[in-house]
Amino acid sequence: MISDIQRSTAVSWRQVTLTGGFWGERQQTNSSRTIPAIYKQMKDTGRIDAWRLDWKEGQPQPHIFWDSDAGKSIEAAAYSLTTNPNPELEAQVDALIDLIENAQQPDGYLNIFYTAVEPENRLTNLRDRHEFYDAGHLVEGAVAYYEATGKRKLLDVLARYIEFIDARYGPNEGQVRGYDGHPEVELALVRLYNATGEKRYLDLSKFFVDERGQQPHFFDLEAQERGDDPTKFWAQTYRYCQAHLPVREQTEACGHSVRAGYLYAGMADIAAETGDAELKRVCQQLWDDLTQHQMYVTGGLGPAHSNEGFTFAYDLPNETAYAETCAACALVFWAQRMFQMDPSSRYIDVMERALYNGMISGVSWEGTQFFYANPLASYPGVNPFDRWSGILTDRHYRRSDWFDCSCCPPNLARLVASIGGYFYATADDTLYVHLYNSNQADVTVAGQNVHLTQQTDYPWDENVRLTVGVERPAAFELALRIPDWCRDYSISVNGAPVSAEAASGYVRIQRTWANGDEVTLRLAMPVERVAAHPQARQNAGQIALQRGPVVYCLEEADNGPRLANVVIPPTAQLTAVREADLFNGVAVITGEAQRGEPTNWGTGLYQPVSTTEYQQERFTFRAIPYCFWANRQPGEMRVWIRHA
Ligand SMILES: [Zn+2]
Repeated sequence: MISDIQRSTAVSWRQVTLTGGFWGERQQTNSSRTIPAIYKQMKDTGRIDAWRLDWKEGQPQPHIFWDSDAGKSIEAAAYSLTTNPNPELEAQVDALIDLIENAQQPDGYLNIFYTAVEPENRLTNLRDRHEFYDAGHLVEGAVAYYEATGKRKLLDVLARYIEFIDARYGPNEGQVRGYDGHPEVELALVRLYNATGEKRYLDLSKFFVDERGQQPHFFDLEAQERGDDPTKFWAQTYRYCQAHLPVREQTEACGHSVRAGYLYAGMADIAAETGDAELKRVCQQLWDDLTQHQMYVTGGLGPAHSNEGFTFAYDLPNETAYAETCAACALVFWAQRMFQMDPSSRYIDVMERALYNGMISGVSWEGTQFFYANPLASYPGVNPFDRWSGILTDRHYRRSDWFDCSCCPPNLARLVASIGGYFYATADDTLYVHLYNSNQADVTVAGQNVHLTQQTDYPWDENVRLTVGVERPAAFELALRIPDWCRDYSISVNGAPVSAEAASGYVRIQRTWANGDEVTLRLAMPVERVAAHPQARQNAGQIALQRGPVVYCLEEADNGPRLANVVIPPTAQLTAVREADLFNGVAVITGEAQRGEPTNWGTGLYQPVSTTEYQQERFTFRAIPYCFWANRQPGEMRVWIRHA
């Protein structure tokens, strides 16, 4: 197949500095509160001292995924140290890295649980026990810390560990044709390859991707070797870990949604790096399936708690939506990687949806509490996430300080800390602008250094101003993303209107730019009533409110209880109002709503409508951005609202 891959490269987080606005504020909160809170939890729960490997029989055991918490926390800190230098945090990270270095075994192996607790069982259960997943997160942390600080101790430690893995796993005589049940190391190896230029890391990643799901099945062989019956797999099907078929034969997003997102991101990396047109096509098909059939309006993924993942097309329950924070993060990672081989805004539209809604809802406004599951409706007593007790302290689903399985907090923290890295991309002589938020960016395009300044109050305001800074006139193409939600936009350069249609979602302005040239962009942002596909039964007869990329919700705090009885009629005028006192100045949506309540209901659970009298209470509703729900007094919440 002839390669139709059109490469672009994301502009690094190191080159983009946010200057306030939505993401500037979230990033500051992330640096000043979230990351320190995570390090305190890491310390208090034993996740740091576990690297001393001095666990003793009878003590609480380190978990098999604690290594990954360390990797993600180091990664988050690395980005944050660049935007917000913090010697105390840097010293903490350096001390943790010393512990990790000391924990490395003479042969290069590195894992807390399988060194301190069950050394006899290491590498006997890749299907369930996350060893390469842990390795992948440590690699990502090592690469980020090296890029942020220039310190390469952790990078060298992880290179030794990967060498250990690379020697044992592969297609050659005497090697094991194995791979991890929880993908992650695949995309991490590509990052390691990009950071070091060592092609064997890319080759190892490609091996893991292509070996997945082949026959004879590695997970069967591995189970037999342990003395387990492979047909008694606790998750029942290898769809759970996307290993039911070779990846090139897969057509549906399935199984555990975080594993899926990481695997597909790794596949997109391999396709882009190796020019693999077939793998690109597979990625596109999976992307279409996921985004057209299985994604919440918030960008959340995976409705089911039972497999922490996907079920079937159009199955999108709201109260029990699992929609793990990590899955929204994974979707962002995957979307960026799809764009790097197929420059279409459709990936970035989804990325933006996940960023502003189902990802950032995972952290409290104040930055120290976290959601694991991100439901789209909440009622007292309903918990999408009942595996860990103690969450429903007041019968309302609320964010928690931490979790036994605490994958989400550091995942979200590393994404917010590196959010600048999702704003721009370059290809040949084109500079793509994906996201809008005030920032300063230093970009190299068509061999020229460009300093780009964005000023905007997006997503609350529809105007964006970009100023081009160049030392001498520079010819390049500026490609501005027109989001999928926007049906009316205008662009001008130095005050002169530009009439250009968007192609693949970008308006392209080709010119020789002079220093100080100013581009203004207006993205009309009316309040939209959004309907779901007719087969999305859980949303039948209901609408979601969206303005720009932001999805809204009703909360009891603003609208009283019994939100299921609230109707926003099709005739109601909807208005966006900026509220200076709410979450530092967000736009809320108000309008006329009705609440139908019976006035002669008896004691029965059911009664005929023909004998029931209803009173319609009219009131002015207030909808707030979904991502900020559960930050005030506990109460009901709904994204999907009846509209007739
Ligand atoms: Zn998670």
